[in-house]
Amino acid sequence: MIHVTNLHKRFGDLEVLKGIDLAVNKGEVVVVIGPSGSGKTTLLRTLNLLEEPEKGEITIGNQSINFDEKLTKKKKVQFRKQTGMVFQSHNLFPHLTALENVMEGPVTVQKIPKDKAKKQATTILEKVGLGNKLDVYPHQLSGGQQQRVGIARALATGVEVMLFDEPTSALDPELVGDVLDVMKELADEGMTMVVVTHEMSFAQEAADKVIFMDEGTIIEQGTPDQVFTFTKMERTNQFLNRLR
Ligand code: ATP
Repeated sequence: MIHVTNLHKRFGDLEVLKGIDLAVNKGEVVVVIGPSGSGKTTLLRTLNLLEEPEKGEITIGNQSINFDEKLTKKKKVQFRKQTGMVFQSHNLFPHLTALENVMEGPVTVQKIPKDKAKKQATTILEKVGLGNKLDVYPHQLSGGQQQRVGIARALATGVEVMLFDEPTSALDPELVGDVLDVMKELADEGMTMVVVTHEMSFAQEAADKVIFMDEGTIIEQGTPDQVFTFTKMERTNQFLNRLR
């Protein structure tokens, strides 16, 4: 579903991704862990072209981009449509209700008739446990509820891949569980997901594969047991020990 080959990204003199190779099968949940500044967010952002690498190739579904070649705007837009992204803090429209926030993409981007978009958005909000909050504005929702509207928004355009960038790290501890439960449900339903998170319990329970990144490279990858319990690399061990 996702193939990344020899991906390089720098910000000025700082080389942030130093030749990343990554494969994610359809329906797999991949959790990316690693120290602050190791390039996790940047890697995730390249997958939907919020950052453009200088070199390498990304294939998602049946679309490939080789960054050695010039990218047209049309190609970028097409490529981006395949993935939905959930950020650390929700980026909901404050003047729109939860329902209107979720309808916005399907109506304005996909040109789906409002009635149909409303039905779909209602179903998705019910799925993330917010069926009773359809007409409420973001400021009337808790951080966890806002984050779940964010997930519903990303799902609403029928994406095949969901990208999560530390979706619970800005939340009060008691709100984290509800968001992780929604993510686990999505994982169980077979959504292909790449998740940057510090929630090791989520990684342990939901990940098919855990990737440990450090200084712009993937140091170690495997099942949660392989990475957490039978760690091969000293750097991974040091990182995990700090969390234990
Ligand atoms: P964290 O866990 O703290 O979020 P991370 O592993 O996600 O870290 P990135 O956010 O990918 O790391 O950042 C990798 C490096 O790139 C950092 O040194 C960061 O300062 C730098 N960086 C990220 N975005 C930019 C940018 N837009 N311009 C310049 N430098 C950037």
